[in-house]
Amino acid sequence: MAILVLGGAGYIGSHTVYELIDAGRDVVVADNLQTGFRAAVHPKARFYELDIRDRPALDALFERESIEGVIHFAASSQVGESMTDPLKYYDNNLCGTMVLLQSMVAHQVGKIVFSSTAATYGERSQMPILESDRTEPTNCYGETKLSMERMMGWVSRAHGLRYVALRYFNACGAHPSGSIGEAHDPETHLVPVILQVPNGRRAAVSVFGGDYPTKDGTCVRDYIHVTDLAQAHILALDYLLRGGENNVFNLGNGVGFTVREVIECARAVTGHPIPAELSPRRAGDPAQLVASSEKAKAVLGWRPRYNDLETIVASAWNWHKNHPNGYQEG
Ligand code: UDP
Repeated sequence: MAILVLGGAGYIGSHTVYELIDAGRDVVVADNLQTGFRAAVHPKARFYELDIRDRPALDALFERESIEGVIHFAASSQVGESMTDPLKYYDNNLCGTMVLLQSMVAHQVGKIVFSSTAATYGERSQMPILESDRTEPTNCYGETKLSMERMMGWVSRAHGLRYVALRYFNACGAHPSGSIGEAHDPETHLVPVILQVPNGRRAAVSVFGGDYPTKDGTCVRDYIHVTDLAQAHILALDYLLRGGENNVFNLGNGVGFTVREVIECARAVTGHPIPAELSPRRAGDPAQLVASSEKAKAVLGWRPRYNDLETIVASAWNWHKNHPNGYQEG
């Protein structure tokens, strides 16, 4: 039996495929390659180029492969874009997941682990955030992810599907081997954007907002290494395969860093002065998002290994300095 990884050519998906294959699992990857890269797919995974909104293509995959569980990363994930193009997020994230679940139900594939997000919580005043805290997204990205969680809940009641939603905080870093890393076009995420400066691809980094109610006025986020996230997906899938109930887990390190602190850390790691410019706030950004991941540790046995920001940024730099144009260059 194989594990199907949807979006397995993307950033977090490709890292999860590497961890699955290292653990000796049989892996099938499906990706439409709109934001993912063929070169990011592990050579030992069987690859299908398809869009999850394409029901016949999904049906054909489920008929051909013997799938015991699905890990679903195939979604759009940029907060800023979700505010200017919300319908893209409803289409790709919600309609895509609807078609996927239709096909899974039709083929009696009953277990799914999927990417949710800290953006489901919105603006919370108490840190760290618990899974039981209120969910009130401030951006359309978080809204569609919360709707995906709820869709799973209703499909579970009706058809017995079981799911785990993993609410990630800020994924960053790269595979320790340096063979895969983070690459988006255009790049919008903080760590890779910062590292474009020492790579000579950008003159300065823009700091989105300096008047938030935080210690230096910039947004606070909880940065988590992509390999630790990948491990959590495998633990969550095994939990479902053992008979675990529907569940939701936060994944973060429990420590918040401001945008300015992340830039300072990247200066230390790269030895480059990395100029920063204050810019207006980005629409939809909550002031702070810091996770409590105690539940994932207790229930899944999750143990993040890269819990130090400098190590995380250094692993990202190890990838970016050798791949300044992402997968476009060797
Ligand atoms: N950010 C920034 N400049 C950038 C990109 C991001 O100041 O060029 C800030 C952004 O406003 C947020 C934090 O960095 O507070 C992390 O943003 P990112 O897009 O990496 O992840 P998100 O928190 O939106 O998932």
